Amino acid sequence: MRRTLGLPIALVAAVVVAEAAVLLLRPRDLGPEPVPLEARAYFSSAQLERAQDFRTGQLWLFGASLLIEAGVLILVVRKAPPPLRSVGPRHPVLAGAAVTAAISVALGLATLPVSAVARERAKDVGLVTQSWLGWAGDVAKSQAIGAVLWGAGGALLIVGMRRFGRRWWIPGTVVVIVFGVAITYASPIVLDPLFNKFTVLSEGRTRSDVLELARRAKVNVGKVYEVDASRRTTASNAYVTGIGHSKRVVIYDNLLKDFTPGEVRFVVAHELGHVRHRDVPRGLLYLALVAPFGMFAVARLGERLAGDEEPGSPAALPAMLLAIALIAPAITVVSNQLSRQVERSAEAFGLEISDPDPPGWVSFLLGTHPTTMQRIGQAEAAAKASSRDG
Ligand SMILES: [Zn+2]
Repeated sequence: MRRTLGLPIALVAAVVVAEAAVLLLRPRDLGPEPVPLEARAYFSSAQLERAQDFRTGQLWLFGASLLIEAGVLILVVRKAPPPLRSVGPRHPVLAGAAVTAAISVALGLATLPVSAVARERAKDVGLVTQSWLGWAGDVAKSQAIGAVLWGAGGALLIVGMRRFGRRWWIPGTVVVIVFGVAITYASPIVLDPLFNKFTVLSEGRTRSDVLELARRAKVNVGKVYEVDASRRTTASNAYVTGIGHSKRVVIYDNLLKDFTPGEVRFVVAHELGHVRHRDVPRGLLYLALVAPFGMFAVARLGERLAGDEEPGSPAALPAMLLAIALIAPAITVVSNQLSRQVERSAEAFGLEISDPDPPGWVSFLLGTHPTTMQRIGQAEAAAKASSRDG
């Protein structure tokens, strides 16, 4: 009875707790309700058609790469590669590291053609500026980093399963949270510079604008960097990252180059909203709330998928990875609700402290943000509210 019910309860609990954490951590101030708008009033039908074509194709490719990853994992779960059988029992921790690192590389290679097609399509619409060689270098670097991190995870998982048995998910939760905090701190200092050049924003119009906005927003902005995003993309963006000493606002060079100071101010004001609302620590708190139930669900689903494989043996690891691959997207869909609300709140804040005139920039359509039309609607609502207030 316990064995048959344990798994469904674990899966439902993970999703329910993820949703409860969204409700608990959602920002209170979302600003006025966005005015409903027709996209056709802002974009030509040719633009809209092009955007829809691009989006539909990229979504299919995204779906395809998820299916390929699941397919590879299912294959490895059903038939463990022979080296796993021979080396596994003698050096389980080493074999655990090797098998997860190898699987992470295999997943990257299996989805490489799909990634290349997605990149080619992005190039066709003018989003890509990088050469194929540069792209290949990026892929190799991220694969290497991924293999090291996943390898370390595999080794730790073997240690945990052997030491704590079916309860490995309890120390596993601690590891996940500590890793989340550590990577948030270290990424902007250690990982991001491997891919881009960051320069402290020099004296000038933008810098004084940022400092003035930060003063008005009553936030300690940390450092402000410009990143050479133009080496890969024509897209314009900005983001906040890091925690504590590594906290910073990063602005794409494209944004500074292609947009008016007023538009840059608006984007920076949005980012300062994230700083003011402590959205990076908020994300870590979300992780801390969801990790125990997520890890519990991974443990129960993983042992079910592992079938007859001995628990704590490297041969049981592919099943754990498949469990992660199945559970993580479900939790991501739930947590994206929080992301969209956090973004809407930052947008409301940005509109409040900067000029509420809707700027004419076109943002990416990402599930983590409200749609472009909602954001324009939000700007329209803020403009109405401010003209009402005089
Ligand atoms: Zn944002």
